[in-house]
Amino acid sequence: MFSQRILDIDMSEVKRVVSLIKGGNVISFAGGVPSKELFPLKELREAFLEVGEIADVFQYGSTLGFEGLREELLKHLKESQEIHAKLEEIMITHGSQQGIDIIGRVLVDPGDIIVVEAPTYFVALNTFQVYEARFLQVGLDEEGLKTEELESLLRKGEKIKLVYTIPTFQNPSGVTMGEERRKHLVELAEDFDFIIVEDNPYGELRYSGSPVKAIKHFDKSGRVINLGTFSKIFVPGFRLAWLIASEELMEKLEVGKLTTDVCSNTVGQYVTWAFMRKGLLKKHIQRLIEFYRPKRDAMLEALDEFMPENVSWTKPDGGMFIWLTIDDNVDTKEMLEDAVKRGVAYVPGKVFYTLRGGENQMRLNFTFESVERIREGVKILAKLISIS
Ligand code: PMP
Repeated sequence: MFSQRILDIDMSEVKRVVSLIKGGNVISFAGGVPSKELFPLKELREAFLEVGEIADVFQYGSTLGFEGLREELLKHLKESQEIHAKLEEIMITHGSQQGIDIIGRVLVDPGDIIVVEAPTYFVALNTFQVYEARFLQVGLDEEGLKTEELESLLRKGEKIKLVYTIPTFQNPSGVTMGEERRKHLVELAEDFDFIIVEDNPYGELRYSGSPVKAIKHFDKSGRVINLGTFSKIFVPGFRLAWLIASEELMEKLEVGKLTTDVCSNTVGQYVTWAFMRKGLLKKHIQRLIEFYRPKRDAMLEALDEFMPENVSWTKPDGGMFIWLTIDDNVDTKEMLEDAVKRGVAYVPGKVFYTLRGGENQMRLNFTFESVERIREGVKILAKLISIS
């Protein structure tokens, strides 16, 4: 009954993690959802009231999205990431998830090679898999994707269609690509003729360090597609996000969007526009930063205090995740059941790799639980790792 491409996608590990955590009072370091206690409900209600009597709000919209919102976004992105784009170069999508899917539809033929980071966001892998892409994984360190390693692959003659990167506060590792590597990556794209997909849902959640320019900022030949989303900096429920690409690419990406769902939900776009034009998004992001920073600090402190010698972890300046590595022959997939029994959950590292890797690693989310529960959870996990 089912297509081979869907049968080839294995979601069993993710489903297992979800079902293990369901119910109970487990301290969850597994998720990546924003804290709903910070949803700006009062301002949202006002924005709904403000636009609620405009007939166009309930009409079909244009495929690229509501112009008012796209204009607000362009202003915002110029300031926050030094992205300079025209109105014709930005499209509103239903989540970055849809952006990834449209890129797959429009740019990937079966067998095309996509380079992804090792580790990377597994849903993007699954999405590109639907379009029968083949993957090459390139390593990461504290400076992000190892572009030297990518260059040697390219010099060996690998023909690459796309590089998919999450350059800032990466999911799952939390690391950020340095400016030199960003420039190098763009140079490689020009020399070896591939497209860069810059997926940046977490970049604006910075708790320390200095801002970085988007990879898109360095793009002179229209090879970078930048994806951003309202999910982590506003609310995920509207399912609104954006995609920035050159006009040449956009012409076909627009066809990809049209043939998927015609246009993004108009009500959400108008409400988000009403929220943004009062300058509320910037203020809201600042509140999120103040709320999440102590949680990140609490997790880093607890890791320092409780983890045994053979454990190391990343120290992200922002985002939602810390990546933990156990220098031992352990299997974090197997260990998860025990962890949940003891009251704490994480995502096993293996799901973030295309082939081998990640058995001794895990992703820890620090934005969901309270400071007290973060401390408690890390303590439990440290004890379990010590005896495993
Ligand atoms: N890309 C990455 C790296 C993510 O972590 C997520 C959400 N977890 C998404 C894309 C999708 O976000 P959304 O569809 O909510 O915009």
